[in-house]
Amino acid sequence: MSEFQRFPGVALDRCGLNRQAVFDIADLPDGVVGDTAGYRQLILLGHGGTALWEAVNQSGIGGRDPIDDFTVRVVRQWMSEFQPENRYAILYPGPQPIALQRLGALAGWHHASPFMVGIDTEWGTWYAYRAVVLADTRFAPSRAVDRINPCATCQTRPCITACPASAMADGSFSLQKCITGRRQADSPCAFTCLARIACPVGNDHRYTAEQLAHTYSISLQTIRAHY
Ligand code: SF4
Ligand code: SF4
Repeated sequence: MSEFQRFPGVALDRCGLNRQAVFDIADLPDGVVGDTAGYRQLILLGHGGTALWEAVNQSGIGGRDPIDDFTVRVVRQWMSEFQPENRYAILYPGPQPIALQRLGALAGWHHASPFMVGIDTEWGTWYAYRAVVLADTRFAPSRAVDRINPCATCQTRPCITACPASAMADGSFSLQKCITGRRQADSPCAFTCLARIACPVGNDHRYTAEQLAHTYSISLQTIRAHY
């Protein structure tokens, strides 16, 4: 009999949490997450495309951050259904800073795009990290997804010229230029990212306008609160 438990990923897929990676905490590099004492594994969950947004809408959940609230609800139901004996802690969403892109890189999900949103050949930039869970599970650790960075072979780089703030015009990404552009009253990037829209990779998974507006309204609120 296998020493590993079956990872019940289909139940998460159905709720739109369709990117899943399992790490043995003992194998993680230092500094990726904070205190993991007492737990054996780290489960990284993400969404790709529009399935999660559709599931959130169908659930009728409201509030300021329905995606996070829905995700936590799904994770709790999933753990109680499939791992009722195991302890767990949801680190993200939560107040503790987590190096999500580092975890994404370890999972093989993350390659840096010129505008610093993660990208891969299947999903393009249309994915995001949704949950980091510490657990006493014994799932088989995931193998890193092996995909190249599509930006490495992108000759025309339309994302760079599409940015109205010229945030990548100097050869690297200027967060300050992006923020300044988005804060302007008539900014075309208040509720979207024109660079992201211009990228052709993973077009089949592109967020709906409503999903984009929700995502970017949250980051705009953060910008207005802190800059
Ligand atoms: S347009 Fe090209 S360089 Fe820009 S994010 Fe897409 S693949 Fe990368
Ligand atoms: S949000 Fe707008 S300003 Fe910022 S990188 Fe994207 S296109 Fe440029």
